[in-house]
Formats: sequence, structure tokens, C-alpha cells
Amino acid sequence: MSRNPIYIKLINSKRWKLLRVDKLKANPICEVCEAKGMSTLATEVHHRTPVESVPHEMGMKNLMFDFNNLQSVCHACHAEIHRCAFSHSKESIQANNKRATERFEDKYLKHINVI
Ligand SMILES: [Zn+2]
Ligand SMILES: [Zn+2]
Repeated sequence: MSRNPIYIKLINSKRWKLLRVDKLKANPICEVCEAKGMSTLATEVHHRTPVESVPHEMGMKNLMFDFNNLQSVCHACHAEIHRCAFSHSKESIQANNKRATERFEDKYLKHINVI
């Protein structure tokens, strides 16, 4: 969590609390899970463009309260978004490929055993 005093002021404002509730009412399902065909209840709201990506209070306010900058997410997806800020890094692509290969080998080997 950010220690930027402007960010803290904005995230604790009544305006944000109301907007957050509005967003979760408008999109009650986690948008990340939904894209993968799953329905998970969203409990958190993520800013697509980080509020702190701009240096001035005015710009931060705009990002904080821009409805189009918001994304309804479940806790797991929200943690994942922030953990994998570089989600398309080589490492994560390689990890995904490795998992896919393992699944394939698993199926293939089971098939051989049956024969
Ligand atoms: Zn999710
Ligand atoms: Zn977030």
C-alpha cells in the first residue's frame, strides 16, 4: 500500500468509498475471472492506470475518480495484478508454457499406460 499522503487522502475520502461501492454494484463479478469464463464475486476495485503514475494531486484525483479507470476484481486477481506488474515477463510466459507441457505429458503418459 502506498504511503503517498495524497493517495492516502484520496483512498480514505468519502467520494472514493462511494465510487468504489458504485463500481462494485455496476460490475459485481471479477472482471479478470470473467474474461477467463469464471464467475467470482468482486470484492475490490483496481485502478487500471495507477493513481500514482502521475505526479500532481490534480492528475491523481482524475485517475482515482475516473469510473473508466476502475476494474472490479476479486482478492486473488487483485493480488495477482499487483504481484505480476510485469505479467508478460519472460518468466511468467515460461512458467505457463512449462505447466502446459506438464499437463500434456501427464495425459500422454496416462494414455500410453492404458495401451
Ligand atoms: Zn478474479
Ligand atoms: Zn489495484
